[in-house]
Amino acid sequence: MKNLFRSIQSLQIKLVVIYVLLIIVGMQIIGVYFTNVLERDLTGNFKTNIETQIDLIETRIEELNEEYVDDRTGFQNEVQKLFYDYGNRSDIDEIRFVNPDSVLIATSKLSNESSVNSIIKGPKTKESLDTGLSNDEIFVSVEDDSKRMWIVNSPVIVEDRVIGAIYVASNIESVYQQLEKINNTFIIATILSLFITSILGIFVARTITKPIINMRNQALLMSEGNYTSRVQIYSDDEIGQLAESFNILSKRVQEAQANTESEKNRLDSVITHMSDGIIASDRRGRIRLINDMALGLLNLKAEELQGKDMLEILNLQNDITTEDIVEGNEISHLLVINNKDDDTMIRVNFSTIVKDTGFINGYIAVLHDVTEQERIDAERREFVANVSHELRTPLTSMKSYIEALQDGAWQDDEIAPKFLKVTHEETERMSRLVEDLLQLSRLDGEVEEINKEIVNFNMFLDRIIERFEMTHKEEVQLVKNFPDTAIFTEIAVDKMGQVLDNVISNAIKYQQREPKRVEFYLQQNSYYNRLTLRIKDYGLGIPNSKVDRIFERFYRIDKARTRKMGGTGLGLAISKEIVEAHDGKIWANSIEGEGTTIFINLPSEVINEDDWDV
Ligand code: ADP
Repeated sequence: MKNLFRSIQSLQIKLVVIYVLLIIVGMQIIGVYFTNVLERDLTGNFKTNIETQIDLIETRIEELNEEYVDDRTGFQNEVQKLFYDYGNRSDIDEIRFVNPDSVLIATSKLSNESSVNSIIKGPKTKESLDTGLSNDEIFVSVEDDSKRMWIVNSPVIVEDRVIGAIYVASNIESVYQQLEKINNTFIIATILSLFITSILGIFVARTITKPIINMRNQALLMSEGNYTSRVQIYSDDEIGQLAESFNILSKRVQEAQANTESEKNRLDSVITHMSDGIIASDRRGRIRLINDMALGLLNLKAEELQGKDMLEILNLQNDITTEDIVEGNEISHLLVINNKDDDTMIRVNFSTIVKDTGFINGYIAVLHDVTEQERIDAERREFVANVSHELRTPLTSMKSYIEALQDGAWQDDEIAPKFLKVTHEETERMSRLVEDLLQLSRLDGEVEEINKEIVNFNMFLDRIIERFEMTHKEEVQLVKNFPDTAIFTEIAVDKMGQVLDNVISNAIKYQQREPKRVEFYLQQNSYYNRLTLRIKDYGLGIPNSKVDRIFERFYRIDKARTRKMGGTGLGLAISKEIVEAHDGKIWANSIEGEGTTIFINLPSEVINEDDWDV
């Protein structure tokens, strides 16, 4: 039913229906006009013919009336004869003549002869006799198959006296039958032409509708995202031009679509590979897009998030609302995400997506990992505080000693040299600290160039140990445990010497029990081309939780005591920087109360000892 309705609605059927309707209307107008004119002409001709005959009969009756003026029977017979002649004609049914008293004188119809000489009823005949004027009417015979008759009553006037009336019943039905035949032919011709034009119309309409149907199908395909197919162009008329324009349009749309697609892909890949996290939401704040970086930063999975509230996911729902973002308040926030290993700090910046119309389309949150930056900032603050603190302590003590000297202690021979000695020591400490700081800053800024050279590490270590043996002869026992083969490595001799100085002096410094003992173990891993030096002492040791922290700047386990020992807390930090600049590693192992081992791992070179000519 629906299909039928749709096919009726179709352009092709509409065109055919229009053709048919036009033909019907055209034929109707032609038919009505044609049959009217034909009817008028045919009936006119028929009537003129009958009237001519009536005129002839009238003239003849007038003549007979004159001829048989005294012989009425003769007159009657002659008229009767005359009527027989006319009565034989196919178009005349009956001719009568009545005298002024409505007595029938003669009739052409045999069946009515019995009525001759009797008065006959005929109001129209009577009217004609009375008025002396002709009249006519169409009479529809009830008995004779609804046959139409044209009845004419015409008076016969002789010298202004009505001598009778002629009554003629003519068979006008034949005219109407003729008309009906013509009409039928006309209707058949109309039906035939309708049928032919309908078939022709279907074909003609098809030539118009086919390209249109093609374009409709193409438009449907385009709506489904298929822009590749093209409409066939059949002609160069308006429809052909439309099809061509349509093809151009679909090509343009295809190009535009491809452009949009590639722009979208580019944007997608930019968003996906951005080093910042991106979350985009709709205008209600529900998440519509989130990139991998944001998922990683927030420790979440994409499936958990679709359609969830952006502020809720960021845990900011109690702090800000979307209105705040629109108004430009609260657009930057610091989030702390608690992870298993470490806390991540994320700076979130919000912005609003506004359409040209001013309508708010959504919100964007850009997540930036600031953990490292925050750590550096905190370290910097701590470093500044540490430096200030380290400098303030000797300065305060120096200040108080100098004040005491100023107040008169300089005159005291016993106290003055003591005070001056302390002041000198503090100055030394400060310059050591400043020296260490400068070195650290040089290492940090990579300003200092490290001039490396290949050395026999065994020999290099020997020399350093010898130096310590000389300076700490009585105090400490230094035990070497080296392999027989020499290990070569490329190092900056002065810098690495500084590292070893620091580590060995720490090993001696933080060892209270006598006899002090420091052991050196040197090993090479030829497979990896690395060497490992272990420096082991039997001193105070370091609590387990603090072992790794001794390489931090200014970190000291027992602040008061190490300061007394003259340490700045920067020695191992500098050592670590130097070792790492050599592509090496330094770490510690310690048992509190039993002793500490410092490990230094460096790259080693494979060189044949014979080539070594130092
Ligand atoms: P300092 O100049 O204070 O010695 P370092 O950076 O060399 O600074 O050492 C940092 C801290 O590590 C020291 O203050 C000390 O507490 C600890 N430490 C270093 N080496 C040893 C060791 N061999 N035994 C025990 N503690 C040590």
